[in-house]
Amino acid sequence: MDLEFDASYDDFRSEVREFLSKNKPPKTFGMSEEEKPSRVGWLSLLIEHGYWARTVPKEYGGYGDSPDLLKTVIMDEEFNRVGVARGLNAQGPSMLVPTLLTHGSEEQRKKWIGPTMRGEIIWCQGYSEPGSGSDLASLQTSAVEDGDDFILNGQKIWTSTADMAQMCFILVRTEPDAKKHAGISYILMPMDSPGIEIQRLETMSGSIGENSFNQVFLTDVRVPRANVVGKRGEGWKIANTTLKHERSSLNSNAEGTLVRLANLMQKETIGGVPAMASPLYRDRLMKLQARALTMKHHGMRMLTCSLKGEPAGVAGLIVKLQNCQLSFDMAALALDVMGELGALYDHSKYERERGYWQALSMFSLGLIIGGGTAQIQKNIIAEHGLGLPREPKPAKA
Ligand SMILES: Cc1cc2nc3c(=O)[nH]c(=O)nc-3n(C[C@H](O)[C@H](O)[C@H](O)COP(=O)(O)OP(=O)(O)OC[C@H]3O[C@@H](n4cnc5c(N)ncnc54)[C@H](O)[C@@H]3O)c2cc1C
Repeated sequence: MDLEFDASYDDFRSEVREFLSKNKPPKTFGMSEEEKPSRVGWLSLLIEHGYWARTVPKEYGGYGDSPDLLKTVIMDEEFNRVGVARGLNAQGPSMLVPTLLTHGSEEQRKKWIGPTMRGEIIWCQGYSEPGSGSDLASLQTSAVEDGDDFILNGQKIWTSTADMAQMCFILVRTEPDAKKHAGISYILMPMDSPGIEIQRLETMSGSIGENSFNQVFLTDVRVPRANVVGKRGEGWKIANTTLKHERSSLNSNAEGTLVRLANLMQKETIGGVPAMASPLYRDRLMKLQARALTMKHHGMRMLTCSLKGEPAGVAGLIVKLQNCQLSFDMAALALDVMGELGALYDHSKYERERGYWQALSMFSLGLIIGGGTAQIQKNIIAEHGLGLPREPKPAKA
């Protein structure tokens, strides 16, 4: 494995640096309606220069370059260096767009991809239901065909950003008599359709969390038949494409967080001595550093596979499991180092770094569950990656 960049990439790195020195991003470009003008302006500029939607074809609103993973790494490194997000970290661009590129009709790609990449449309993901989380294929929200529409009834839960979204990619049961994986369809549902009620759910992170959490109730909601992605009843395959992209996008900038953690340990004192001088805490930091470096080199190994056109296989399955746990463990060390101040959050005047570590702790705990829990990831790795026997099913009463 070669860990150096070819000299031919130097020009590209300089070009990205120059762009970042000349163009300042808006202060915030998140998902709210108020941020829409600055979000759309900034994302459109990034697309124009090829730093966002780089490999999305031009006819769908992207930059239209061929894939070059090394350029992607360079862009990520340079944007991280100046602390600017490269694009919008949201479910539409990272999960729906790659799904539409694989399974969407030409009409759907033309209609939805460009506005999603430019941040004109915010999406939410309507998968989970009360009682159907890990066992997602047991979902019950129904969709019955009526003329040119489907009529949807049911309830979704844990729907991140549903209160900000204009659209939802939702899983519904269209063939109630088919086997559970067979009767599901994948539909694009406008969130302003009559019959949708959104209720906000409070989370432990209070007002410092990044995402909003909701439950969504559907009563006789009409969605055009043209909004079904792929074939009716074949939504399970499409849902899994989205999940694959969700899990690979749940990555972390472990090295950056580690540097921040080391700085905290230099500053925080325990009994008048910096936490960094404590053998116990230093030992924990070293172990985290080893894991962060392992994940970095693991990422490079996957990159090399990808450049050679080889599938990542089991290596790809461990990314989400390891990175989410690593983020949580780094936050846990930071909170321990802060002692009793570590327990403060929600804008206490004594909190450190404006609650960054508390927010990271609660957010990464959520990510260990979201997108498929750690236990489910371990099952997938064991059964699909390592070929171990399937988990025994509980006996029927
Ligand atoms: C931060 C966050 C954001 C989310 N955003 C969204 C969203 O936008 N849209 C959406 O649709 N959903 C979202 N979710 C929901 C998420 O996908 C589910 O919470 C997750 O799939 C787990 O389902 P559940 O909560 O029903 O737990 P359950 O499936 O009830 O699991 C409970 C426990 O049992 C374990 N378990 C269950 N089955 C097995 C098994 N076969 N083997 C071993 N252990 C098992 C689980 O690992 C877990 O520990 C989000 C969740 C979080 C935390």
